[in-house]
Amino acid sequence: MTLVPLPAFADNYIWMLQDGSNAIVVDPGDAQPVFDALARDKLQLAAILVTRHHHDHTGGVAALHAATGAPVFGPAREPIPEPFTPLLHGDSAKVLGKRFAVIDVPGHTAGHIAYFLPAGEGQAPLLFCGDTLFSGGCGRLFEGTPAQMLASLAALPGDTRVCCAHEYTLANLRFAHAVEPGNADLTHYTARCESLRAQGQPTLPSQLATERRINPFLRSREATVLRAVREHAELSANAAEADVFAALRQWKNDFR
Ligand SMILES: [Zn+2]
Repeated sequence: MTLVPLPAFADNYIWMLQDGSNAIVVDPGDAQPVFDALARDKLQLAAILVTRHHHDHTGGVAALHAATGAPVFGPAREPIPEPFTPLLHGDSAKVLGKRFAVIDVPGHTAGHIAYFLPAGEGQAPLLFCGDTLFSGGCGRLFEGTPAQMLASLAALPGDTRVCCAHEYTLANLRFAHAVEPGNADLTHYTARCESLRAQGQPTLPSQLATERRINPFLRSREATVLRAVREHAELSANAAEADVFAALRQWKNDFR
């Protein structure tokens, strides 16, 4: 299967997986880029996967479903356009002989889910994580707890390719540098991403192993990150991990 990010709106990606005749799309906020890609590559739409209810992830679902009849899979606890197959943690969406495992990633919204496709046929594992994890950053925390979200992601293999729904990477990396100015991996990764963006290329998908080296939100237990957050937020030395994470997120919210 070939993985293709279809740019939409200002900075969204609609992820498409296609095998030369059939396609699966994730979070089609807009139908047109998907119709264009289906027509260009002469593909049938086999399924629509949705991670969360917001319009920039679901705006194209009704039109795509009406035009193609493709089944829609989505989070059971979020109000996404009907009809769809509601999924909970531990469920899976079976499409084109592949099994997309559903993972709860509460934090952004309580019902937000991600889809994990294990490795197979020369393909690295894929994670479609919506608005929970971004390269170099994470979504704003509205509901749920960061600990739940981190626990959900901690178990996944390092070679997982992370398919985020937004191109926020460079802005996130500016913040990451403020937290860990001495992180050499972060410096190298930033140079690579700047060069990709200068050529008009997506920085995504990222790789989970890379994120574990450069993303402060996956590094809230690292001594460098802990020290920086404690100094910035004046947290006590024995602050709980969730407090460190929340302070880091608040720092990012205020960062300019
Ligand atoms: Zn979004």
